[in-house]
Amino acid sequence: MDDSGALVLFSGGQDSATCLAWALDRFGHVETLGFDYGQRHAVELECRATVRDGLGRVNGDWAARLGPDHTLGLGALGEVSDTALTRSVEITMTDQGLPNTFVPGRNLVFLTFAAALAYRRGLKHIVAGMCETDYSGYPDCRDDTIKALQVALNLGMESRFVLHTPLMFIDKAETWRLAERLGGEGLVELIREESHSCYLGDREHVHDWGHGCGTCPACDLRAAGWRRYRGG
Ligand code: ZN
Repeated sequence: MDDSGALVLFSGGQDSATCLAWALDRFGHVETLGFDYGQRHAVELECRATVRDGLGRVNGDWAARLGPDHTLGLGALGEVSDTALTRSVEITMTDQGLPNTFVPGRNLVFLTFAAALAYRRGLKHIVAGMCETDYSGYPDCRDDTIKALQVALNLGMESRFVLHTPLMFIDKAETWRLAERLGGEGLVELIREESHSCYLGDREHVHDWGHGCGTCPACDLRAAGWRRYRGG
């Protein structure tokens, strides 16, 4: 157990919920941060409190370590980006070979604001769910991007932040397995029921892998990961 504090980028999705459990298993004090940037799936922000409360029931030690929750408004990100995450358009692939859900620089902005908040709160560790394995090819999810940003943030803030990305090299099935190792079936159930991944913000349709439209790229990824996880 590391008694220094951590800040977890916590959107309310499967990945960040698993990261939050990972941090609660390691660090003595854990705070959470969510961003409101005009995302179409803003319903994910409403799932955050439910998942946080649920984590405390999965493990009493986690409840004791879980500190305050923070949300920051980053509406400017929605203003500068023209993407299917922030506008009501169909999700397609762009000429650059990226899905049009890509918000340019989003994770750079998120991590920079996270570091500014961690600085103020005296938290050394920053934990985020970026993954370059089976993600949608977003360049700001790459390990090299995160490592370069860690250097830049530490130079620019005269700090010794450590950026952790526990999901970087595992796929969605392995992310479910990680949740199972951390919190057993109780944690898997909590994440399946209460976390939100669907880009369209659909909470009406329920599948064996959780809530969502069932057809957007985020739902596809989540469903495929769940099938591989349950299949063994
Ligand atoms: Zn969906």
